[in-house]
Amino acid sequence: MNPPSPYDLSLPELQALLEGWGEPPFRARQVWEWLYVHLAEDWDQMTSLPRSLRERLAAHLPLVLPRVLATQVSSDGLTRKDLLQLADGETIETVLMRYERRRTACISTQVGCPIGCLFCATGQAGFRRNLSAGEIVAQALHFARILRAEGSVPADRPLSNVVLMGMGEPLLNYPATLEAIHRLSDPQGFRLGQRHITLSTVGIVPEIDRLAGEKSPSRGPLQITLAISLHAATDELRNRLVPINRRYGLDALFAACRRYISRTGRRISFEWVLIAGVNDSPAQAEALADRLQGLTAHVNLIPLNPTPAYEGKPPSRQAIAAFTEVLERRGIPFTVRLRRGIEIQAGCGQLRGVKREK
Ligand code: SF4
Repeated sequence: MNPPSPYDLSLPELQALLEGWGEPPFRARQVWEWLYVHLAEDWDQMTSLPRSLRERLAAHLPLVLPRVLATQVSSDGLTRKDLLQLADGETIETVLMRYERRRTACISTQVGCPIGCLFCATGQAGFRRNLSAGEIVAQALHFARILRAEGSVPADRPLSNVVLMGMGEPLLNYPATLEAIHRLSDPQGFRLGQRHITLSTVGIVPEIDRLAGEKSPSRGPLQITLAISLHAATDELRNRLVPINRRYGLDALFAACRRYISRTGRRISFEWVLIAGVNDSPAQAEALADRLQGLTAHVNLIPLNPTPAYEGKPPSRQAIAAFTEVLERRGIPFTVRLRRGIEIQAGCGQLRGVKREK
């Protein structure tokens, strides 16, 4: 078994450990700031700690960063995908997307994914294990370090957004995902506002209700954005595209969405990967608009990123125009997302698949 990582300890756990070693109460907070504010890469960088403590920490909690096995950068230089190797040898993907004013990390919550969406390379490769909270957080820190080293971003806020939208279904790894959200938004640590964190789920209904009841540090509801990977607005089609729909059908899912909005006051994003001839018809757009009537919602339309094991194609421009015309007419707010990083296979699971094939 691998020794524990410092990123897997909460602040109270770190406090208990250091106080057990006879250290003064302020030490844990110092270590915490080195890890999450200064983004230290090595215990030796933590020069405000006594050398003997640094040595003891290094022996008990090795600060091992994920190893970058492969990197792909899009031709415009704006999207970078890293294949990271974890301490047990498993691999995950994590993506950095640069926009005019934002720097967004798209991070994974599981190694592989048990959901098996028809069009997704991660789903096609199966499930290996859940990530720990520390392994989830370490992906955001990884890109924060890279951005800070480049020097062109605010040193105290290198990353502006995190989306839990990489490999895996976050709500099937609920405790670690929630801990990671709290860790990333900790005002004493990484300090990312919860409104800058998006959690994407296929719609695990009981866990959506559980999430609606979670509290932020201010004791109000969590302020993160919930995104539902919808992709179809009829059960018949969604059962094929997102198999979990057979368990949690659309009526149950939208009832949970309504409860979520009324408890949290937050708008929900609905993600829709547009696939030519499958879910890009005006009829599906009408069905989607019917489902969204009266909901505080936004739709993100994402033309398909082709994967080797799925023969689906991205929609034509005419099909996208016909689909969006319906949403516009029905008053549903939407965005058509740029197909970022298509040539670097930025759809989740694709770089991992390429590496494995090699
Ligand atoms: S799209 Fe998301 S939920 Fe579906 S198989 Fe891929 S990683 Fe899993």
